[in-house]
Amino acid sequence: MKIAVAGAGAMGSLFGALLTEAGNDVWLYDVWPEHVHTVAEHGLSVEHEGRTRIVQIKATTEPKEIGQADLVIIFVKSTQTKPAAETARRLLGNDAMVMTLQNGMGNADIISEFIEPVKILVGTTSHGATMIGPGNIRHAGVGPTTIGVWAKSKEGADRARQFADFFTQAGIETETVDDVHSVVWNKLLINIGINAITALSGIKNGQILDLEITRELSRAAVEEAMNVALAQNVRVRGDAVNHVFKVAETTAVNRSSMGQDVDNKRQTEIEAINGFIVREAKKLGLEAPVNQTLTALVETLQYHY
Ligand code: NAD
Repeated sequence: MKIAVAGAGAMGSLFGALLTEAGNDVWLYDVWPEHVHTVAEHGLSVEHEGRTRIVQIKATTEPKEIGQADLVIIFVKSTQTKPAAETARRLLGNDAMVMTLQNGMGNADIISEFIEPVKILVGTTSHGATMIGPGNIRHAGVGPTTIGVWAKSKEGADRARQFADFFTQAGIETETVDDVHSVVWNKLLINIGINAITALSGIKNGQILDLEITRELSRAAVEEAMNVALAQNVRVRGDAVNHVFKVAETTAVNRSSMGQDVDNKRQTEIEAINGFIVREAKKLGLEAPVNQTLTALVETLQYHY
């Protein structure tokens, strides 16, 4: 299968590498010339559990070089979804699908401005990756991937299952769900309870649990988001707060992605995470003061880098 990855940073490069190793014709597309040229000339270096391997993958900063693909995976940060979706539209062949496993809410809606919703696969992944430098990533964690079609249809569900089987055969264990909105929302709740708090305070995920006042902050942010989900008739897990705490415990030594963004003075995905809750709450006439404050503080911080 011919696969194009739009946004070949840590996660895009990882998925590109795994799909290449499974025998697919993969292209990485990224706007970061240093990274692209390193991969194109020397291959991608993938560190995993103390071992490093080099994967030869085609990489370009020029979408025209790729032609048309059967699957386009969008793996930019949510702030860049719009330009990546515009590019993805140009890369999509007949009968092709586009997939987003990005964090945050709103990515699929932005993509559907350019690509029919029946062609959009949405999901979450528990794989983790870190960008070490140009042409060099670390595969930091392995876990399940879940996908579903954004606009429900029988044909879409069949396609989702085909892609899930195809990913699983490539070593990316993937399942499908009918209600992918709930899956994306449940992942959002985890990011809401962990990301901004760790980013602002400089702590690791597990340290959210150390003080009652921090736990209560996380709880309040998640509960505000659950109220928005309820008002939108989205089914989210009832034990979301405890689940967030469990994730904080199992990822205790990790710095969240937003934490890493702040550490490296990069723009964060705050607008698609806590900021999304603030916007949706406003539309629904609900209050979301905790998410409003977290959003304002992260936006202030990144404005003044
Ligand atoms: P990253 O910053 O490492 O990679 C993003 C890449 O997109 C960069 O290489 C950047 O140059 C490129 N890019 C920016 N604008 C572009 C454009 N217009 N067209 C093409 N490429 C462009 O980010 P990441 O960590 O790989 O995360 C990607 C997404 O996956 C985010 O939504 C993140 O929250 C999510 N995610 C990350 C992890 C993780 O462990 N890193 C895990 C699960 C989900």
